[in-house]
This record gives sequence, structure tokens and C-alpha cells, in this order.
Amino acid sequence: MMFHIDLKLLTHLNRHKCSACYKQYKKWEHLIEHMRVSYHSFHEPKCGVCKKHCKSWESVREHLTGPLPKGQCANIFSTNGCELCLNIFDSSNALEMHKDSCRMTPALSPKCVQPGMEDSDDRVPGVVATDSSMENDEDQVAGVVDMDSSMENDDDHVDEMVVMDSSTGNDDDRGPEVVAMDCEMVGGGSDGSLDLCARVCIIDEDENVIFHSYVKPVIPVTNFRYELTGLKEDYLENAVPLMEIKEKVEEILYNGESLWKARLKGGKARLLVGHDLDHDLYCLKMTYPEHLIRDTAKYRPLMRTNLISHSLKYLTRMHLGYDIQSGAHDPYEDCVAALRLYKRMRSQPHLNGGFPGSSSSGGDVETTSKRNPFDPSGWRDLEKMSPDDLLNMSVPDYKCWCLDSRTVNS
Ligand SMILES: [Zn+2]
Ligand SMILES: [Zn+2]
Ligand SMILES: [Zn+2]
Ligand SMILES: [Zn+2]
Repeated sequence: MMFHIDLKLLTHLNRHKCSACYKQYKKWEHLIEHMRVSYHSFHEPKCGVCKKHCKSWESVREHLTGPLPKGQCANIFSTNGCELCLNIFDSSNALEMHKDSCRMTPALSPKCVQPGMEDSDDRVPGVVATDSSMENDEDQVAGVVDMDSSMENDDDHVDEMVVMDSSTGNDDDRGPEVVAMDCEMVGGGSDGSLDLCARVCIIDEDENVIFHSYVKPVIPVTNFRYELTGLKEDYLENAVPLMEIKEKVEEILYNGESLWKARLKGGKARLLVGHDLDHDLYCLKMTYPEHLIRDTAKYRPLMRTNLISHSLKYLTRMHLGYDIQSGAHDPYEDCVAALRLYKRMRSQPHLNGGFPGSSSSGGDVETTSKRNPFDPSGWRDLEKMSPDDLLNMSVPDYKCWCLDSRTVNS
């Protein structure tokens, strides 16, 4: 294939530098080819000093603090940079002030989410402290307690299956409602390697538990994985059957929206945040529309450069500054960590409208990104463009979470 190249332009700019990652090319068409496969955009993580774009936060961190850091960037970062969000501040005072808000404290788990802690003989562990035992509720899902009290009184969360009214507190300008979910698995099958969902926790955007339950697996549990789950046989004996849990979870996620509308546009359906949600959903035997899922294990900027996921424990340490999963896993703690990571990513101050996918009329990255503006067929149109112009028209190959705060749902 032959392409018409403007020689004057080539000699004028003897080197062609990518405005995003600063790679340099001798030939213009090599830069265009680079743009075609790079999917640079204003949504990429950037060095706060030189503004170089990176594919992941991990590579920004490497750029700033790795074994071979970039000289000037590393120097400035070492005095004025926040090691969690990697932002650079004007003064070390400003940095100190910022650090307090950037480093988060571990989520204090509501009592209910710590089974082993409050074992008492007078009740089956995990069953509601009030007397709404499973058997005497016929017209609601067994063991469900509907609470409309405020979310703050954590003391009463000691429930087998807690469902709270989560319909309050969603401002219209806040974008779609968000919940975070985590499941704990025990083992089934002859060697105990089959994952069976034994516990589910769902929280709202303000970290309140809106649903928590132990789950009675469909097949016998052969390994409670006590070290990891803190679960014993008696927690699950009278727990809620998996199919009822699934229905309840679906009810929360779809939020009264019809399936087709949730699949198509989302509508009232809630965004589901979590870590490695495919696995959780699989164990709950349910599916959820891909475009409503915000998975911290699958989000490009949070992954390793080689596209392998980081653990939630690692991400929480590196981005939020505290430790999780030091003992038995607590689904509430994991929910909160994933939610906080999501919110941190969502609040990235990315250029508003500076890329085609976010154009005025609520443009949708998912549709626009299917067309690559650097396809060879369109090269003629690109000839007069500067590297900055090229970057401006480049679209990411993933949907940046910052767009969630700007989405206007219809
Ligand atoms: Zn580049
Ligand atoms: Zn963004
Ligand atoms: Zn830099
Ligand atoms: Zn910070």
C-alpha cells in the first residue's frame, strides 16, 4: 500500500514525537501507526511532573520511583509527590495537608460482618439478634429484615440477611447509583476446590451495608477454609438458600429496572463495583450486563502493565494506604476497598469533553471507540495535524470511570 506523504511537512518536523508517551519517530507514518495501536487519551494515568501518559498507575509509579526513575520527575516527586495518588503538590506543606485525606483508614466492619467475634451460646451464630428467625416469615424471603432506620447505627447489623432501604440519598446529578459487592467462598467437591458462595455483602456508595447474608450452598461443603473465611458449619446450616440470595441480589442490582433496559442503557439499574466480579457472579449463578460492571481487577489503569490483575490487597495498600485481609477475609472490608478504589478512579480530573467519546450530547465511548481514527484509510486527513491534534482525536480502548460522574441517564 502507498500513502501520500507531504515531504515538506516531514522535513519541517524531522522528528515526530507522540504527545502522550513522548516516544519519537523518524517518520510521520510511524507515529500514526503508533497512535493507531496505542489508544492514548486524556484518561490515561500521567506523571504529575512531565505529564507523560502511562498505561497503568503501576507504570507511573515506576516512572517516578522505580529502579530507573526519570531524573527530574523523580526528584520533584520525592519531595512534593503523594505516594498514594502520585499527584504532585506545590509545596511540601500542601503535600502534608493532602496526605491526611489521601491515606484512608481501614473500614470498621459493622459487627455483623465478623462472625467469630461474637459467638454466644444463646443463638445460632449469624442469625438475627431480634427474633425474626427464618421459619416464621412466610411472605418474605426467609430471614430478610427490612430496615428503614438510618444506616449509621451499625450496632443492629448483626443479621443473617440484612436488607436495608437503599433508595435514599441519590442525588440526580450524581450519576447512576453505585453498589459494591463481595462474596466469600467455601470449598465443595471431593477435594474442596470447588468455590461455593457462603457469604454475600453489598454496600451502598456511602459504605453502608445494604445487604448481608450467609448462604446455604447447593451442594455439601467439604472445606470451610476457616483460615480465610472464618466460617464454620453452623453459620451455614440455617443460612439462606443460594437461589433466594440470587433473587435478592438481582433485585438490588436491577433496582426495579427492566432487564432489557438495564442491558441496553442501564436506566435505574445500579453500577456494580467489586474485585474480580466475574467469579462472584459465577458463584451466585447470575449474570449482570458488562457495561454496568466496574471491576477493580479488570480496570486497565489498575492492572499490571502486562494486563494481569493486581490483588485487592495490593491495590488497597498502594492506592488507599492501608492493609486488608490480614486475617480472615471480611466481605465488608473488601467491598469498601473496591468501592474506595472505584471512587478514587472516578474522581480523576480528566479533561471534560477533550476527546470524541465525551462530546457534548452524552456521547458514548463504547460506540465511538469502535472506529479507530488512525485507520490507514483516513491517513490523508491527518497529514496537517500536530501531535497534539492527534492525541486530541485519539480515543481510549476502555471506558474511563471518570465518565460515570458525567453520565446523564435517560
Ligand atoms: Zn505514545
Ligand atoms: Zn477519565
Ligand atoms: Zn515524568
Ligand atoms: Zn494523594
